[in-house]
Amino acid sequence: MGQGMDQHNKTGGNTNGPLGACGLCREQRTLQDSHFFPAALYKIVRDPDRPNPNPVVVTRNHAGTTSRQVSAYFLCWDCEQRFALQGEKYVVSQWAQRDRFPLRELLLSSKPIGVGSPTFAVYDVGALLAEHAEEYLYFAASIFWRAAARSWGKGMRQFSLGGKYQEQFRLYLLGESEWPQNARLMIHVSSGELLDIFMDPVGVRIGAVHRHKFYIPGILFILFVGATVPREHDGGAFNSSVGRFMGLLPFENDSLFEGFGKVAREALRNPKSLRPEE
Ligand SMILES: [Zn+2]
Repeated sequence: MGQGMDQHNKTGGNTNGPLGACGLCREQRTLQDSHFFPAALYKIVRDPDRPNPNPVVVTRNHAGTTSRQVSAYFLCWDCEQRFALQGEKYVVSQWAQRDRFPLRELLLSSKPIGVGSPTFAVYDVGALLAEHAEEYLYFAASIFWRAAARSWGKGMRQFSLGGKYQEQFRLYLLGESEWPQNARLMIHVSSGELLDIFMDPVGVRIGAVHRHKFYIPGILFILFVGATVPREHDGGAFNSSVGRFMGLLPFENDSLFEGFGKVAREALRNPKSLRPEE
């Protein structure tokens, strides 16, 4: 970073995009065709054994397959590289893949610090992840932020972090400030199924707190923002003041999967029922 455009272009930047204000750094730059979700996601969930091998995407009331990757001219090459190198590259290597799930294997190789019920285990992953912990935080922030930063077309739900948090996360992603003080991230890892679908961010207001979620294969990211969040949601958070916690649990009862989780599971068991996305 901090080198000239020419050098970046030699390493893969697209010089043919339109000139415009980058969504993250706001500099006038050549904009890249920026994917909403990492392109690798579409490859990972592509299952050659399905009659329709395209990824399964779940929206509010529909589970279907899509060959369309959501993208837009949005970020400059430098900012694309920030997203790729500071979070995506590592997280992409850890989520559930066709025959392995490195993050879950990592949790199962260690001892949980607590077991809430026979199906819910909590791990303190600070020592296990070491410097990779920051990459989960950065990746999650980059997905939540970019979902709210522009319209991504009809394939995605409208999503908002609220103006104040949107700007705090922008500055965090640029490296100009710390992670927002009133935000806590929960990371839940699937101990069961629902491994080959993904969902874009969705938010709900609970009193004075906003809770946002998105899902990539096997990993559910839950973000709480609000003035009372440091007091009410610090325990169990990945960026808790007392540890880096992850939960290992089945997702079948998570609110994100209510309704359409059933649709998705039935669709995955009976691939012929999958409808292409309109
Ligand atoms: Zn930029």
